[in-house]
Amino acid sequence: MRRKLVVGNWKMNGSRAANAELLAALKAAGPWVAEVAVCAPAVYLGEVALSLQGEEIKWGAQDCSAFESGAYTGEMSAAMLAEFGCRFVLVGHSERRAMHGESDQLVADKAKAALAHRLTPIVCVGETLAEREAGQTDAVVKRQLSAVIHTLAHCVPQMVVAYEPVWAIGTGKTASPEQAQAVHALLRAQLKAATAHAADMKILYGGSVKADNAGVLFAQPDIDGGLIGGASLKAADFAAICRAAG
Ligand code: PEP
Repeated sequence: MRRKLVVGNWKMNGSRAANAELLAALKAAGPWVAEVAVCAPAVYLGEVALSLQGEEIKWGAQDCSAFESGAYTGEMSAAMLAEFGCRFVLVGHSERRAMHGESDQLVADKAKAALAHRLTPIVCVGETLAEREAGQTDAVVKRQLSAVIHTLAHCVPQMVVAYEPVWAIGTGKTASPEQAQAVHALLRAQLKAATAHAADMKILYGGSVKADNAGVLFAQPDIDGGLIGGASLKAADFAAICRAAG
């Protein structure tokens, strides 16, 4: 039985005061049956770590460098994130793939760098609306995951996968439970071909998850929790989604 995981992606939102208020409310809202984490902007990770130390909520970053150290201005290494107690790091979020030109191989290299420092990479995959309408959903997500599988090799079971249809992110349009389950089943089958541990791996769904649709999505056999953007910024909404996963 896979324990559900719910991860908040704050994106480029928050302030020291707003984060403190959000985290205080979340700490008061637990405990949860599901595993819960927040991925904060890197500049806040030190304060988030202080606030969440010893609490059930884990924390992570929204990106990391594929490199260990050196002349990569503006980047953060996985080692740096690990030093601040991060348990997770998002890699390959569609906003980074689209706005920062991240390739499938770069995303895979970032996942590998994360694992080298004992961070769990949450590898995001997903198709655009044009790709879905062209019937390319399966080919796109398989291609994105394939690069990671080949790069991680025997470490594949250590990652978390997040299926995030690009057309559902921040749009208010959620994939139907059936649409999401179909892609999750496909991804699980691809993982099964690569590792004997696929049945234990978590595949999260992300894309306009809200308190009122989380339960039905999380009830699908291959949906093991959610990656939550907008709704993770409001404590009551995020707490309700976390409860829906338990
Ligand atoms: C995300 O950014 O990963 C996400 C799923 O956003 P939202 O929940 O706002 O669609």
